[in-house]
Amino acid sequence: MNTRMSSWQPTPKPSKKNWKKNRAEARKLAFLEMNKEDTYENAVAEIPVTFEGTWSRQGYSANHCTSFVILAASGKVLDFEVISEVCNQCNQKKVSCSQEEFEEWLQTHDCQGSYGGSSSSMEMECAKQLWRRSAQYCLMYTPVD
Ligand SMILES: [Zn+2]
Repeated sequence: MNTRMSSWQPTPKPSKKNWKKNRAEARKLAFLEMNKEDTYENAVAEIPVTFEGTWSRQGYSANHCTSFVILAASGKVLDFEVISEVCNQCNQKKVSCSQEEFEEWLQTHDCQGSYGGSSSSMEMECAKQLWRRSAQYCLMYTPVD
């Protein structure tokens, strides 16, 4: 038997499939409430949502911001975004090779931790990306209090 330890994940990843389902449900509901049939595929649905940002701080410099868009009616998560000022891959690579090797590697590395703005603006940046992405889902998020 071939046991692949490398594919083992310490924490289960949230299921994106569910969120896709949640978005489809939210869209359907919105059209129902407007008494409109979802007659054409790219019709945009207005969705009342709440926006939640959570922070984590590890050590002195590591800062991550995770933000969720949540359907106000049901509390279901529709989408999320993580913004980080640090990148674990970069940190690991930095200590395992020379500066030149690192810079060469960096050219092809899709860095997830390259956010350069201030910590306080991270949540705003998360929101921007979530709102921008909502257009792809044919959703228009309307924040409620
Ligand atoms: Zn990186």
